[in-house]
Amino acid sequence: MNRDEVLQQIMDSGALPTLSNVASKLIEITGREDTTIYEITQLIAQDVSLSAKVLKVVNSAFYNFPNEVRSIQQAVAILGTNAVRSLVLSFSFLSMEKKRREKGFNYQRFWEQSLATAVAAKLLVGEVETSIDPEEVFTVSLLVNIGVLILAQAFPGRYDVLLQQADCGSDRLIALEEKELGIDHAYVGSRAARRWQFPETLVLPILYHHNPEDYAGDDAELAREIRIVYLADLIANILYSARPIDFADRFCKEAKRLLKLSGSAVDGILENVSAEVASAADYFGMKIEGTPSIPEILQKANIELSLLNMSYEQMNRELVAAKLELERLNAELQEKNAYLEGIANLDGLTGVYNHRYFQEHLDRELNRTIRGGHPLSLVMIDLDNFKKINDFYGHQAGDFVLREACALWREQVRDYDLLARYGGEEFVLVLPETDAEQALAVAEKLRAATAAHFFGNRGERYEVTASFGVSVFDPADREMDKNRLIEQADGALYEAKKKGRNRVELYTPKKGGWLKRLKA
Ligand code: GH3
Ligand code: MG
Ligand code: MG
Repeated sequence: MNRDEVLQQIMDSGALPTLSNVASKLIEITGREDTTIYEITQLIAQDVSLSAKVLKVVNSAFYNFPNEVRSIQQAVAILGTNAVRSLVLSFSFLSMEKKRREKGFNYQRFWEQSLATAVAAKLLVGEVETSIDPEEVFTVSLLVNIGVLILAQAFPGRYDVLLQQADCGSDRLIALEEKELGIDHAYVGSRAARRWQFPETLVLPILYHHNPEDYAGDDAELAREIRIVYLADLIANILYSARPIDFADRFCKEAKRLLKLSGSAVDGILENVSAEVASAADYFGMKIEGTPSIPEILQKANIELSLLNMSYEQMNRELVAAKLELERLNAELQEKNAYLEGIANLDGLTGVYNHRYFQEHLDRELNRTIRGGHPLSLVMIDLDNFKKINDFYGHQAGDFVLREACALWREQVRDYDLLARYGGEEFVLVLPETDAEQALAVAEKLRAATAAHFFGNRGERYEVTASFGVSVFDPADREMDKNRLIEQADGALYEAKKKGRNRVELYTPKKGGWLKRLKA
């Protein structure tokens, strides 16, 4: 039989999975030029459970949109029709009934590995400058080995033997399929995709996923997509094949060669992929076993490799020594990292957080605030007439006051409030889940504590007071952002200075300016 006769036999055997109704209609209408967003929305909305699933993914950390996407129509408008089509296709396959079998082809594992390929591809796209839709790469990578599934169904038993001989995957499998069946899974998968009327951008990566350089067309983006899918398949093989080290070596070389990825980009992907797979499974409502992280897999494989040539006793000794060394290194590394991380974020003079860390922290907290819907307050603090302390008593006295004031303030705030040096003698206080009234109370407490504190050193006593400007971030206010929040606190502080210092002011836009509060 020649290849096309085998293909015909496979198609006739009923081994080809059927697409869901919505998915096949969607492919049809998105292929037409005159399709409107309305038609697409209507089609997906017919299937209530599918709509709910799509919205769940769109609103998950998978996308990280700042605002909730509430309808399919909105999702189509934001993501575009191609991306939504890709999502629907992914769902259509991931929700296919997974046959359980005592022996033979492991469907669960097949879809798990496919999901890993899809997630790996999405991570790779993130590292490359390209206009390829991440969702499309996700979907095509999810389906890249669909030929394996089809062959397993078409040749039950016989194909399982091939899989075992090939040691779970890759080029050797292709050669065996060719020899034993007269057809390989890349070709079968691409023909199935054609039959489902997938666009070429979904068909060709399946066809070329073992030999990306065989693609001879002149579409540079498609060539890149094919390379990404090829590399993603290698990553999934690090996770799921019996030869992780070989695949890791090959992936690192090929990623540099084909996509010009840097060493750190490659490392980052390898470190994160297995955790990302676990979250993606969650978003797509799949139960998976998951795998350890790639660094762990490789470390274990390396130890096994070096043990192969040892006597039992030697092996035991080496194992114990290796384990102890590993534990020691881990502990040392953790300590160093914690120290470096800590110290890099602190201001050298006062020991409170520095400006850079404040900005990062505020970004994170504002994201949380937007998700959680609670207000956040910012207090900007500036020591009053501080220049005079420097002028009268010298710079060292000034430094002492800065340190002393920070120590005093730090005692007064909650653990999850952040005090940072904004610059010079200006400080900021980030108060999560705190409204205006509570923030004013905190600021007033600090103001009073500062004025009452004994700032004394080397027999001298310094009169120290500070002024406070408070602003509030209301998550419901779409106009609000980080810079505005800081500007408003700064404006309120300016107002406190203008009104005589040693006082707290709140920025209030609605009352047409400044609300006078809590004078000294
Ligand atoms: P105002 O009440 O309006 O804030 O008056 P001020 O004197 O506090 O404000 P101004 O901005 O005029 O002066 C701030 C002074 O803080 C000037 C600068 O030399 C001093 N300063 C900034 N950083 C440090 C520091 O690290 N150590 C010391 N000793 N002084 C500093
Ligand atoms: Mg000052
Ligand atoms: Mg100042």
